[in-house]
Amino acid sequence: MKISFDLDDTIIPGIKTFATEPQTIIHRIFGIEKIRKGTIELFKALKTQNHKVGIYTTSFRSVYKIKLLFLLNGFSVDFVINQNKHLHVLKNSQNKPSKYPSLFNIDIHIDDSKGVAIEGEKYNFRTIIVDEDVENWKDFVLKNIEI
Ligand SMILES: [Mg+2]
Repeated sequence: MKISFDLDDTIIPGIKTFATEPQTIIHRIFGIEKIRKGTIELFKALKTQNHKVGIYTTSFRSVYKIKLLFLLNGFSVDFVINQNKHLHVLKNSQNKPSKYPSLFNIDIHIDDSKGVAIEGEKYNFRTIIVDEDVENWKDFVLKNIEI
């Protein structure tokens, strides 16, 4: 399957807070943001199950910067959809949800926003919503993908 992850408040703490991976000197030099603890382990587990793993964010961070964020944490993401790509693809669409994973052939989208789950019901795409206080988000996501 093709699986996408939101960035803000799902992988990168912002309004919501959660434990993060340790930052290295290299991360600081490149201005790499902190990522949620267990993210790379989770991504690698999904890859070993032959899933495609990528990012779908409504932020305007560049594709290059997002790829670098994960590369410098030891993982090469399969695809990145940022707000620019999203707006480009939805230009001629009558529906304008904040995210539209099925338009990008994404099977499951993981996000912190309950609003995205509601959009998923309306526009027929599958979501997994992760709260900030989920104990072990790697296991939580892996379990929910199997359902
Ligand atoms: Mg979010």
